[in-house]
Amino acid sequence: MTKISRPSLKQAEDAVRTLISWAGDNPDREGLIETPKRVVNAYREFFSGYEADPEKILGKTFEEVEGYDDIVLLKNMRFESHCEHHMVPFIGKAHIAYIPNKKVVGISKIARLLDVYAKRLQTQETMTAQIATTIGKVLKAKGVAVLIDAEHQCMTTRGVYKQGTSTVTKTMLGTFKTDSEMEKKFLTLIS
Ligand SMILES: [Zn+2]
Repeated sequence: MTKISRPSLKQAEDAVRTLISWAGDNPDREGLIETPKRVVNAYREFFSGYEADPEKILGKTFEEVEGYDDIVLLKNMRFESHCEHHMVPFIGKAHIAYIPNKKVVGISKIARLLDVYAKRLQTQETMTAQIATTIGKVLKAKGVAVLIDAEHQCMTTRGVYKQGTSTVTKTMLGTFKTDSEMEKKFLTLIS
């Protein structure tokens, strides 16, 4: 990802003031005066994923797993992200599995990896592929399966107003891709 120079805090707050005026309100009225500050702070949280290196998160692995070589699955992990087209939330659940290749990673690290990619401007498709590719690459896993099911507020609160629509994306790598029984096993475990 190309590094871009960050505007100052003041510039960011001024940008929020501009958007408030664009929406048709007065950024100087009492209820809105502190809003730019709050929005900028919220943005820090929403987009904190840019601060972390996803590959480093998976850096510490364990090899003493008594030969465990079957599926490791974290299912129903909730996440919040923001679509890069409208900068509004998409919220859903991620299911992430891998087949270890002699080493495993602390399961909380997988959850952390999900958040690092979610807390950026994203498309669901990109995020799904990024998570799978990073696990495959860093853990040299025999297989990786990622399925994300999310509701996009840019579709439910504006535009086409399709409430209740969930978008499903999946990436299968290694044995989950080459062996349809493995993919089936994953889909059964998360259903
Ligand atoms: Zn969108």
